[in-house]
Amino acid sequence: MSGYDDQNTFARILRGEIPCDIVYENEHALAFFDINPQAPVHILVVPKGSYISIQDFTQTASAAEVEGFWAAVGEAARVDPLIDRGFRIVSNSGSDAHQEVPHFHVHILGGRPLGPILNKYRDVFDSN
Ligand code: AMP
Repeated sequence: MSGYDDQNTFARILRGEIPCDIVYENEHALAFFDINPQAPVHILVVPKGSYISIQDFTQTASAAEVEGFWAAVGEAARVDPLIDRGFRIVSNSGSDAHQEVPHFHVHILGGRPLGPILNKYRDVFDSN
């Protein structure tokens, strides 16, 4: 992808340059715990390919990569207690959404009641 910054944190994690606490991995995706958890369980899932956004990912990744990524999201969300209690999936894209790391990823949040989506979204991700 043109414009992809290969020095971003998740690219460095995928290359093994920065450690992470792996939850699940398959051929096309890696799931690991967020370093600054915003809920008792906070997991990130990233595709192994170099994609900035979901549009970039869905337009340019292969069908196998897209399938493998979403399968990994489902597998990562099997961790206790999410499978029993429920969880939320969030993906920030671009500046309005406060995307900090320019490598497409989804957050899986759970382990406590998360409240209505927009209120909790503001609570969890917007410091303003
Ligand atoms: P976003 O704002 O959607 O781009 O979220 C980026 C997320 O990456 C934040 O929740 C950070 O806490 C998380 N993060 C940043 N660096 C690391 C790291 N080295 N390991 C795990 N998570 C990280």
